[in-house]
Amino acid sequence: MTSLSSKYSIDVLAIAAHRDDIEQTCGGTLLKISQRGQRTGILDLTKGEMGTRGTAEDRAREAEAADRVLGVTWRRALDIPDSRVENTWENRLKVAHVIRETRPRVLILPYWKGRHPDHYTASILGYEACFLAGLAKLDPQAALSTQQSPFSQNAGTQLPLDSRQTGGATALPPHRPFKIIYATLYYDIRPTFVVDITEQFEARLVMAEVIESPSILFRGMAGSLIPIVTAHGGHLLARNNPKGASGHEYSSPHRQVQRTI
Ligand SMILES: [Zn+2]
Repeated sequence: MTSLSSKYSIDVLAIAAHRDDIEQTCGGTLLKISQRGQRTGILDLTKGEMGTRGTAEDRAREAEAADRVLGVTWRRALDIPDSRVENTWENRLKVAHVIRETRPRVLILPYWKGRHPDHYTASILGYEACFLAGLAKLDPQAALSTQQSPFSQNAGTQLPLDSRQTGGATALPPHRPFKIIYATLYYDIRPTFVVDITEQFEARLVMAEVIESPSILFRGMAGSLIPIVTAHGGHLLARNNPKGASGHEYSSPHRQVQRTI
């Protein structure tokens, strides 16, 4: 990555609960962005140890292989327990620290409604972490190391509110993404925009095979509407033949909301 002193270290950071979520919900979008020479990153909140197929080590190997296909420049998995993604102060600090470290211009979060609690909780957690990451008087790393809220009146050891210096290390400067968008694939809602990933489709299929996704693959006959149905019941790629409402043969759905943090 480039120097952390630049305003944006990566162009787009995608955050999700599980290690194959990004590949399913916005892998094509990230691939398209990286093919245009922009820097992308992925933060997985958990290591995916509760998946019905394989282990956390399997997920790590698959994530590494998928990264090569997607061309991401940065990826990390936090240690939040799988199936127990909670919007706690500690977890918000962990994500806020990553946001300061990676300094993304655009953040992609999962949509805030869905079947799996980890998915919609990751959405709210990511949004609130962005807010914390922008607070000049909060040092997420220092707060994490004490496991106490620096805002708490009862904290035994009060952190200095302007804690730019922490244990001799310089705190990362505050940062908030310019824009947050949502990947809506796991929820049945009309997207506000779609990204045409027709040209990324073959690579996208390669990646689905690399991660041994639990998806059911329907390599479509002409006119088939849904080539891939994920284990979550969402449409990994919607194939419209002839070109459907989106105007693209293959597209990734996203939602944009008008709000600033
Ligand atoms: Zn998931």
